Amino acid sequence: MKKQSIPGLSHLQFRNIFCIGRNYVEHAQELQNEVPAQPLVFLKPTSSIIFDGDAIHIPPQSKNVHHEVELAVAIDKAGKNIPKEKVLEHIGGYGIGIDVTARDIQQKAKDKGHPWSVAKGFDTFAPLSTFVKKNQIANPQNIDLHLTVNGETRQSDNTKLMIFSVADLIHYLSTIFTLQPGDIILTGTPKGVSPIVSGDTIEASLDSGLTTLSVTVE
Ligand code: ZN
Repeated sequence: MKKQSIPGLSHLQFRNIFCIGRNYVEHAQELQNEVPAQPLVFLKPTSSIIFDGDAIHIPPQSKNVHHEVELAVAIDKAGKNIPKEKVLEHIGGYGIGIDVTARDIQQKAKDKGHPWSVAKGFDTFAPLSTFVKKNQIANPQNIDLHLTVNGETRQSDNTKLMIFSVADLIHYLSTIFTLQPGDIILTGTPKGVSPIVSGDTIEASLDSGLTTLSVTVE
């Protein structure tokens, strides 16, 4: 994508998208995965980003595309080896994101021990809401995440159920990568992932409507 500023945090431009897998126990269990001993990290390309009002395109390579609603965290200050107690200084704001996943392609990759970049990285596979500034969220570990498909609730949980907290994740990521302003962290999905098909409308909400995201599926 062209250099694009983050909606709601217009002084920041998107950099990397770090994603966390299996960060909620019941989601790991619904896909018969082990709960990880340390954060499971993968990346999505910025070419996969779309915004409120846009459409997810089901790629011809997949017959089973899933939604995963997730808390998105935007980094506002560079850092390496960030101590957990300093994490908040590095956060710019929060949004709601959907980690769209080609589950059939991901399952084949998992079976073979291959990376997930293809399953997670198609164009339009990273819908992101407008972000709210960090001072609008008192505690990132007590945020409701909600997702409906055609008006029917599919995912509804709270970030207090995360295995690794936002502070844990930012600390851990920063021991590997220098985090930079504009980096986004998708912090993992709670239970309830399910297939989406052409014609669906997906609505996601952070903290009971503090910010929302509506996308269609083509
Ligand atoms: Zn995910």
